Amino acid sequence: MKKNLQKGQTYTLQVDKTRHNSIIKNHTATHLLHKALKEVLGSQSNQAGSLVAPDYLRFDFSHFGQITAEELQEMEKIVNEKIWQALPVTTIETDIDTAKEMGAMALFGEKYGHDVRVVNIADWSIELCGGNHVKNTEDIGIFKITSESGIGAGVRRIEAVTSKNAYQQSVQQEDKLRQVAELFKLPKTDNVVDKAKQLQQELEQALKENEQLSNRIANQQAENVFQEVNYVNNISYVSAQVDVKDMNHLRQLADQWKQQKISDVLVLATENNGKANLLAAVTSEKNKEGIKAGDLIQAIAPKVGGGGGGRPDLAQAGGKKPEGIPQALNEVRQWLEG
Ligand SMILES: [Zn+2]
Repeated sequence: MKKNLQKGQTYTLQVDKTRHNSIIKNHTATHLLHKALKEVLGSQSNQAGSLVAPDYLRFDFSHFGQITAEELQEMEKIVNEKIWQALPVTTIETDIDTAKEMGAMALFGEKYGHDVRVVNIADWSIELCGGNHVKNTEDIGIFKITSESGIGAGVRRIEAVTSKNAYQQSVQQEDKLRQVAELFKLPKTDNVVDKAKQLQQELEQALKENEQLSNRIANQQAENVFQEVNYVNNISYVSAQVDVKDMNHLRQLADQWKQQKISDVLVLATENNGKANLLAAVTSEKNKEGIKAGDLIQAIAPKVGGGGGGRPDLAQAGGKKPEGIPQALNEVRQWLEG
């Protein structure tokens, strides 16, 4: 609850030491990051805002294009080197012209008065700033970038942690790595990358074999199905339910049917994950006689609770009622009888 201060009352000001220390570490780290950013990306990258919280820091800056993982790593490395070099952080108050002569980085568009405060980190990073800082960069302990993203046209955001939060972050990462190792049944985390590569290869191989087997099964089914040619009104047709994975496989079967010139009309149905797929194909000769695959599929698709359409030679439909597949296939004969 916030209350207005009363005149004549006595108040005790308490500073949460831990919180304050975390904030000043993150604040000085933003100065180091600002300078590192300019070294890596160039001086045209400017600060566009920042947030210094006790548990993390956020730094927005102007930059067009992506930032590579290598550039981020480089910035992180520079900041950490400046921390390990244990550089003194000093502040002086001076006038704006002297500050500019010192080479102080000022924020574009920001208005500064005549007297300014300059935060100087061993002449490496010199910035106009009124905030609180650590006395020496080594107080920051460690600096770790946690994320980088675009937040608008030409503006990007880096989030980072320092000190205890950076340590906790690395513990969490290590924990994730250990969980991955456990899933891979590895006693140690050292070999997780090799193991992941190996599993990926095995998966690719298995998928390839699976695809080959599916194709072989589809071909065998095709041989069986294509032997049952029916006739009505001088039209030869095949209508059958097959067990294949998806519409793609139905189209493959239709290709074989076409190549082998099995019949004038083909209707195939398959059921997958509670859904019905229908495919109809008609030869170009029968197209000329007015028999169109699109019309046929429209006539039978309602039986599987769906709709569809397509070209005169090839049409497909999907439906939510796979139990209606036998009726849909029966309907083919009636439709051809016209
Ligand atoms: Zn500052």
